[in-house]
Amino acid sequence: MNLKQYNSLYELMEAFPNEQACIDHLVKVRWPCGIVCQWCGCTRKFYRISKGKVFKCADCKKEFSVRKNTIFEESPLPLRKWFAAIWLMVSHRKGIPSTQLGRELGVSQKTAYFILGRLRRVMENIEDHGGPMDGEVEADETYIGGKEKNKHANKRLNAGRGTVGKQPVAGLRSRTGRVKAKPVASVNRQELHQFIHANVVPGSQLYTDEAQAYNGLIQYRHESINHGVGEYVRGQAHTNGIESFWALLKRGYIGVFHHFSWKHLHRYLHEFSVRWNMMHMESEERVDAVLGSVSGIRLTYQELIA
Ligand SMILES: [Zn+2]
Repeated sequence: MNLKQYNSLYELMEAFPNEQACIDHLVKVRWPCGIVCQWCGCTRKFYRISKGKVFKCADCKKEFSVRKNTIFEESPLPLRKWFAAIWLMVSHRKGIPSTQLGRELGVSQKTAYFILGRLRRVMENIEDHGGPMDGEVEADETYIGGKEKNKHANKRLNAGRGTVGKQPVAGLRSRTGRVKAKPVASVNRQELHQFIHANVVPGSQLYTDEAQAYNGLIQYRHESINHGVGEYVRGQAHTNGIESFWALLKRGYIGVFHHFSWKHLHRYLHEFSVRWNMMHMESEERVDAVLGSVSGIRLTYQELIA
């Protein structure tokens, strides 16, 4: 479907030289089987008006643009800037902070923050496309959190090292490469079992470390590795795959975002997981995957900062 190829922002801008090129492309990606009326749902016949920017349904006579019912609907930004934002977000392995995105696009930091917020909602849609995992799956948990001394005084816990003040995160990585991660209230048996049951098909082969919380997962074939006695790999039983995802997530936390707010942590996890899951795709396929999932989501700035 997509014959345009690009491997840099410059090439992307050349592939989409103006707003109309972006509209035409979004029409193809959003409605691969033909335009769908955003008022009555019919697909029969449309007139293009306003120089091709607006469709008029021959049945209900109502008008709509390709932005209708998407994250772009109420945005005054040209689609070219949105396309560039998507490319920048899916091409930076550790993500792009709103300050940098704002500079690259020539928009304010506040606008860039809003763009990233809406794109993270799209990532959330994409994340579950693959359904529950099966085959061989690694399950593990980690803690995300900043250095105490860098936090504002009122957020400092003065509790020393360890896991206090950090947010526990549960994660899965299928041996096909796909990951999924979610913040949990704590890394106890109930939370971890719930997360695994919701996301792994019963009967799958599960690999975990020796943590007690993973005991009793009787719906699965389960092997654990005892990190405590220096064991890291036994045959196929290891959790190295999910651990490399944790490493990337932490580099993103420390190097790029400095601080994920707890409230938004789940959104960052969607972003990091989906980007990880897109690693094997070409640059233009990643952009199209995002563009193909922009409908049915509206997130106002008030919702984003609430
Ligand atoms: Zn209609």
